Amino acid sequence: MLNIHQKTLDKIKSYLKRQQKQVESQIKSLEKEDPVLSDGLAESPESGTESWSADVHARFVSMKNELLGLSKRITNSLTSLKKGTYGKCERCGKKIEVARLDALPTASLCLSCSKKTPSRTKR
Ligand SMILES: [Zn+2]
Repeated sequence: MLNIHQKTLDKIKSYLKRQQKQVESQIKSLEKEDPVLSDGLAESPESGTESWSADVHARFVSMKNELLGLSKRITNSLTSLKKGTYGKCERCGKKIEVARLDALPTASLCLSCSKKTPSRTKR
């Protein structure tokens, strides 16, 4: 059993839920503003510049992918919170430091494993 305070867990849970909603609405607004996905092509500054919308689209896609990745991590964290496996390192199975979880609730690796893993999702 992980010795994380119930209070801390509750805090993390509500934080994650809030963050998930934010991420979802960010994804939605990105989709709305994406010149390729939306019908907003006519709104490009210079009339009908295709390279402009392709540029913007590429940027939106990478932002969206980032958000989708974050959303997935949030979902995973919420699932493990429900299952009671939250705070366990995915790599070594040890407990993740509570201070680390407090600062980064979506952390799935303990501090020493995350140091060993060059990950672009690391914050
Ligand atoms: Zn570890």
